[in-house]
Amino acid sequence: MRCPYCRANDDKVVDSRLSEEAIAIRRRRECLACGRRFTTYERVEEAPLLVGKRGGATEPFDAAKLRSGIERSASGRLDRTTVDELVADVEEELRSVGGEVPSDRVGMAVLERLRALDHVAYLRFASVYKGFEDLADFEREVGELQKTTEPKQR
Ligand SMILES: [Zn+2]
Repeated sequence: MRCPYCRANDDKVVDSRLSEEAIAIRRRRECLACGRRFTTYERVEEAPLLVGKRGGATEPFDAAKLRSGIERSASGRLDRTTVDELVADVEEELRSVGGEVPSDRVGMAVLERLRALDHVAYLRFASVYKGFEDLADFEREVGELQKTTEPKQR
């Protein structure tokens, strides 16, 4: 950052915080040449994350929508903190992919984690996500669960 007083390009950050609306990071800086302090604002710009639907349409990733889907499945099974972490975790994974992610990838990212957390929540989510229609669908999925979660032989 260039110092607005002496134009030197050497400073240290003395304080850093998110603005009230969380849209900018406010940094208090001290010029290492003249010792004066100044403030900079850096916009928090996250690349938009898009979710590609099966029909070809895309929509912006909606963490609130994802959370409510997970909450329904996790009701009475997982506490709020766990759900929060799960949503944040999934979002982080998707953002690391960036750009446009297929909706299947979102569903799979959730299922992967639910499977490790709670089988009932997993099955509820899977039943909505995979569109289970009858008991056979459940039984097949439970079979898969048992297969994939058997302890590994050492
Ligand atoms: Zn300066």
